[in-house]
Amino acid sequence: MNNNVMFSLTYGLYVVTAREGSKDNGCITNTAAQVTATPNRISLTVNKANYTHDMILRTGEFNVSILSEKASFDTFKHFGFQSGRDVDKFADYPAAKRAANGIYYTTDGTNAWMSAKVVQSIDLGTHTMFIADVTDGEILTDDPSTTYSYYQSNIKPSPAAPKSSKTTWVCKICGYVYEGEELPADFICPLCKHGAADFEKVVAS
Ligand code: FE
Repeated sequence: MNNNVMFSLTYGLYVVTAREGSKDNGCITNTAAQVTATPNRISLTVNKANYTHDMILRTGEFNVSILSEKASFDTFKHFGFQSGRDVDKFADYPAAKRAANGIYYTTDGTNAWMSAKVVQSIDLGTHTMFIADVTDGEILTDDPSTTYSYYQSNIKPSPAAPKSSKTTWVCKICGYVYEGEELPADFICPLCKHGAADFEKVVAS
């Protein structure tokens, strides 16, 4: 089997937000999809390492802000490359409003948002898949939704050329550069927390 077949699937990118007590949090995912129209239901799969995952599991509610092609890399860094366990991502974050369910949605580089209520949680090992009813939502702009490949080609900064003649490994998610001939199999990107499978080997010429 050619494992690269997986790269031919297309994905959008989303800020998924939750609120538990007085704690707000959000993270970036590429895994929201409509599963049925009647009822209007989506699936959302979240890595268990994300703090937002635990909040959704406990509260059964979340919002999905759909990122457009106007989304800035700063939005990805803000919600994707730091953990809600360490920082309050909504402290002094101006580009967010609360929906009727009390949970924030983002407004910067966001073309629409929706609120959802979990009806089923499926344990998938590293991730949980939430099946949820869409309960609210609004269109904010008519900018096209970004895809993961649009993010890769147009939003994420191109990694700087290797300074030395060394082999490097570049994180395909965030652009972090690891210097070394071999990348340890258990390596976790210090910026975006993705694993070794998301790194690409770059051999200096
Ligand atoms: Fe990374």
